Amino acid sequence: MTAQRERVCFQDGLIVSGRFEIPTDPSIRRGPNDNTPCNQVFCGSCGVKVRSWPGVDLKNDPRNRAEHEALYDHQDGLTSKWFTPAAHLRVYACRCNSRIVMGARDLDVNGPDAWACGGHSPPVQSGSEGR
Ligand SMILES: [Zn+2]
Ligand SMILES: [Zn+2]
Repeated sequence: MTAQRERVCFQDGLIVSGRFEIPTDPSIRRGPNDNTPCNQVFCGSCGVKVRSWPGVDLKNDPRNRAEHEALYDHQDGLTSKWFTPAAHLRVYACRCNSRIVMGARDLDVNGPDAWACGGHSPPVQSGSEGR
């Protein structure tokens, strides 16, 4: 974990709307000169990796911890009862919070306080240990 913490995104990471593509490779992170969305957003309050669903809006905001957990835990994908289609949006959720994102937001100033990049794995290397 210590090694990964050194590989965090610029400005705590970027969360984005449904119009942006989030890289699937966990070693890809945001540098100071790009707007690569973070795929390793973690919540410091409830300790989980934040999930996200592109192209949807929340039908109803979760009102309490149980509802936040139900939203986070559902396995119905984009067809979940929680969602209504909205191509330009993306829903992010942890077990204690949720956020609907339009555009792109830096987590250090525009995200929930407890959310931040949890660090990215080193790029896969063949043979040597690298530098
Ligand atoms: Zn990141
Ligand atoms: Zn949380």
